[in-house]
Amino acid sequence: MILYNSLGQTKQEFIPHTKGKVNMYTCGPTVYHYAHIGNLRTYIMEDVLEKYLRFSGYDVNRVMNITDVGHLSSDADTGEDKMLAGARREHKTVLEIAKFYTDAFFADCEKLNIKRPDVVEPATNCIDSFIEMITVLLEKGYAYLAGGNVYFDTSKLETYYVFGNMNEDDLAVGVRDSVEEDENKRNKADFVLWFTKSKFDSQELKWESPWGVGYPGWHIECSCISKKHNGEYLDIHCGGIDNAFPHHTNEIAQSEAYLGHKWCNYWFHVLHLNDARGKMSKSKGDFLTVSLLESKGYDPIVYRMFCLQSHYRKPLTFSYDSLDNTAKAYEKLKKRISALSSDGEVDSNKADSLIASFKEALDNDLNTSLGLTSVYDALKADANDATKLYVIGEIDRVLSLNLIDENASEEESSTGADDELTSEIEALIAQRNKARAEKNWAVADEIRDRLKAMGVVLEDTKEGIKWHIEK
Ligand code: AMP
Ligand code: ZN
Repeated sequence: MILYNSLGQTKQEFIPHTKGKVNMYTCGPTVYHYAHIGNLRTYIMEDVLEKYLRFSGYDVNRVMNITDVGHLSSDADTGEDKMLAGARREHKTVLEIAKFYTDAFFADCEKLNIKRPDVVEPATNCIDSFIEMITVLLEKGYAYLAGGNVYFDTSKLETYYVFGNMNEDDLAVGVRDSVEEDENKRNKADFVLWFTKSKFDSQELKWESPWGVGYPGWHIECSCISKKHNGEYLDIHCGGIDNAFPHHTNEIAQSEAYLGHKWCNYWFHVLHLNDARGKMSKSKGDFLTVSLLESKGYDPIVYRMFCLQSHYRKPLTFSYDSLDNTAKAYEKLKKRISALSSDGEVDSNKADSLIASFKEALDNDLNTSLGLTSVYDALKADANDATKLYVIGEIDRVLSLNLIDENASEEESSTGADDELTSEIEALIAQRNKARAEKNWAVADEIRDRLKAMGVVLEDTKEGIKWHIEK
C-alpha cells in the first residue's frame, strides 16, 4: 500500500515495524461539545484506513485518547482549558460534560459506521504515566522548570519542525495572534508539559505531582497513551491536518526525546471540512452535527458517502446541495443493489478481478472516490448477481455504507466473509490461551477486550473455550 506521509511529505510504501501487524494511534475528541461533521470527516477517513488495513490482512491495534483535560483554547498553551469553559457553559462539572460528550461522540460514530478503536483511553486515567514521562524528560535535560510550570526545551532537539512545512513564523501565529507570550519559555517553540501556574486558577481537575499540584499539557497525553497501549514503536499516527502543528510536532519531540529512538514512521493527516465561512470549528459555536443532519431527514450514512466521494488529502466544502446529490446517488445505488438476487454460485475469478480494482484504488493513498466506482463497476460487470453481491459485500467491509441489506448479507455468509471473521476470532482466542498459559495477563486481558469489542462472548466449558457473537 502506498500512503502519503506528512513526515517527508511524499507518497511512500507502507511497511510496518512488525510484519503483518499495525500499531495505529488516533487523536481523539476534546469532549467539551458535540463533534461536528468536520471532526467526523477525519474519523470517517481514519476508519476507512483502519478497515482497509484489516481487509489487507494486517492485525491492527488502534488506540484513541479522549481529551478531557489540558487542551487550552489556543493550541499554543494559552487561554483556558476547553473542558472548563464547556463545564461552565452548561453549569456542570468537567467530568459530567466529559462523560456526556464522550457518549455523544461514540453515538455519532455508530451512526456513521465508524468502528470503535480497540483501546479508548481518557487522559485523566493516565496522570501517573504523564508524570513518569515528564520526570524522565527532566532527567534527560529535555525539560525545565520555570515559573511553576514544566516546559519542553525545543532547543535540545536536532530538528523540531519535523513536518518541514513550518517555520518560526507559522509557530508565532498561535502565540502572536492569541494572547501575550509566555515569558517563562526559553525558546518561542517550547511548550508546557505540566502546569501548576496559569492565569486561570479555576482549573477544576488537578493532581499532585513532583512539581506541585497541577495538570498536564495537552500534547503529553497522546505520547503517553500511545506508548502505554502500542509500545515504543508506532506505525501510523492519525489526525486532522490542524493537529500536525503544534500538537503532533510536540508529540514527536516528547516521545523521541523520552524513548531515545524514532517513534512513529507514518503520519496520516486528513484535510479539513469547510463550510461557506471556512474551517468548521467547535469554538465557532454554530457548527453542523450528525443529529442536525438527521433532523433534516438525512441518513448519516449519506454523509459518510459524501466524505468517501473525495480524497482525504483535499479540503472538502460542505453544502446541502452537494449532500442532496449524494443522497440521491446513494438511494439509486441501494435500489440497484437490492434488485440483485443472491441465487447462484459466486464466480471467484470474476470476483477477484473486480475486488482487485478496488484494492488498486485504496492501495494508492486510500483513493476512496475511485474505490466507490468499483461498486458501480461490479454492478455493470458481466457476472451473475451472486458474484456482484459478493464483491459489493467485500468492498463494503471497508466502505461501510450499508450497501447490502441485512437479509441478503445473511444469505451471503457462505461466500467467505464469515469464514475470515471466524478464523480471525479463533486466532485471537488461541493467542489468548497462549498468553494465559504463559501467565501474561496483560496480553490475555487485551485480547479479551478486543474480542469483546468485536461482540464475541467467550464461555469456559469442559471442552475448552467456546464462543459466539452477541446478537
Ligand atoms: P478536537 O475535538 O477539536 O480535538 O478535534 C478532533 C479531531 O477533528 C482532530 O483530529 C482534529 O484535527 C479534527 N478536526 C477539527 N476540525 C476539523 C475540520 N473542520 N475538518 C476535519 N477535521 C477536523
Ligand atoms: Zn493527540
